[in-house]
Amino acid sequence: MATIADKLQLVRGRIARAVSEFGRPPGSVTLLAVSKTFPAVTVREAVAAGQHQFGENYVQEALDKIAELADLRDQITWHLIGPLQSNKTRVVAEAFDWVHTVDRLKIAQRLSEQRPAHLPPLQVCIQVNTSGEDSKSGVAPEEALALARAVAALPRLQLRGVMGLPAPSPDPAEQRRQLHAVRVAFDVLQSEGLPLDTLSMGMSADLEVAVEQGSTLVRVGTALFGQR
Ligand SMILES: *Cc1c(COP(=O)(O)O)cnc(C)c1O
Repeated sequence: MATIADKLQLVRGRIARAVSEFGRPPGSVTLLAVSKTFPAVTVREAVAAGQHQFGENYVQEALDKIAELADLRDQITWHLIGPLQSNKTRVVAEAFDWVHTVDRLKIAQRLSEQRPAHLPPLQVCIQVNTSGEDSKSGVAPEEALALARAVAALPRLQLRGVMGLPAPSPDPAEQRRQLHAVRVAFDVLQSEGLPLDTLSMGMSADLEVAVEQGSTLVRVGTALFGQR
């Protein structure tokens, strides 16, 4: 059985090969380990193997894990990558370092008001919906600029970039089209003067295509921790 350390090495190798193949600068793609449904002890093992960025989908599950791993708090950056309802913004603003799934101004305003003053600003991405009507999450690309400008103006938040979650498709061309659309949304915001550095897209199955399309942060679960 491959250990988590082995699988981290494999995934880091996949990223490094894609970075080189697509002419991206060395070190320009960060690995976010998606630990949803896996226990705190698994995260602990990954930290011991040198992984420090973790993504969680479900707020309550994440809060339990963050509490259990309090002794490692300064070694872990916690990212919320799942949907966020407005009744959960306070606990998220208190416990997480990043939120990738901001798709409404109301959520961003609450996070901004509720981010404790003793913590650094919450790092946020705007989630862009590139799959049309099949997904309820994410702002339509044509509305992303207005939302991004409003979010960037809020105190206690730092807008870092754009997150994309293409609808699953058996067609690789459709996957690439959606990843490309996220990239275009990111470029539009940057060209409008927003100082963004994070393009969060790519998962276990499509991280190479995501790197080809400019991803700076790939969110990988299954390839590191196994099937959920
Ligand atoms: C679960 C999840 C991932 C990781 O997906 P894998 O296919 O297991 O690598 C990435 N991003 C989001 C938003 C997820 O919910």
